[in-house]
Amino acid sequence: MLNEFKGFAVTLKRLLRKPETIEYPDVKRDMAGRFRGLPSLRADPETGEALCVACGLCARICPTSCLEMHVVPSEEGDRELGEFILRSGRCLFCGMCAQVCPVDAITMSKQYELSTQERDGLIYTKTELARFGEQDPDWWAQV
Ligand code: SF4
Ligand code: SF4
Repeated sequence: MLNEFKGFAVTLKRLLRKPETIEYPDVKRDMAGRFRGLPSLRADPETGEALCVACGLCARICPTSCLEMHVVPSEEGDRELGEFILRSGRCLFCGMCAQVCPVDAITMSKQYELSTQERDGLIYTKTELARFGEQDPDWWAQV
């Protein structure tokens, strides 16, 4: 009989606890500071210009070759970033691209809502990656 009471006591204690579950997607969990979501591209907060200098280091270090960039000649006769593609279906979220970037132009955002029913939905362009970078300038995590 004592064991039954012990069992009920455990149940009662659990019932009075604050629930651990959250009502996702209405409520979203605060991700840890070092959480690594989708890589995103950042712009200078003052000028709005993309920070990427098209050096190609991120694409070279990427272990799954999921980054692709097209470099075009700039008006000044230099080179600049034309297009930047991330094939997120192959991304490991390892953060190596962010680690090697000399100007912090590519950083790991906290974006994790990436499910899609279309394969093309896994491909992100420069504009889309910049939008993730813009969402909250403090949102990206240095790795
Ligand atoms: S997080 Fe890793 S796998 Fe994803 S793009 Fe960067 S280097 Fe490549
Ligand atoms: S994101 Fe950084 S590492 Fe990648 S090409 Fe641009 S400047 Fe170079």
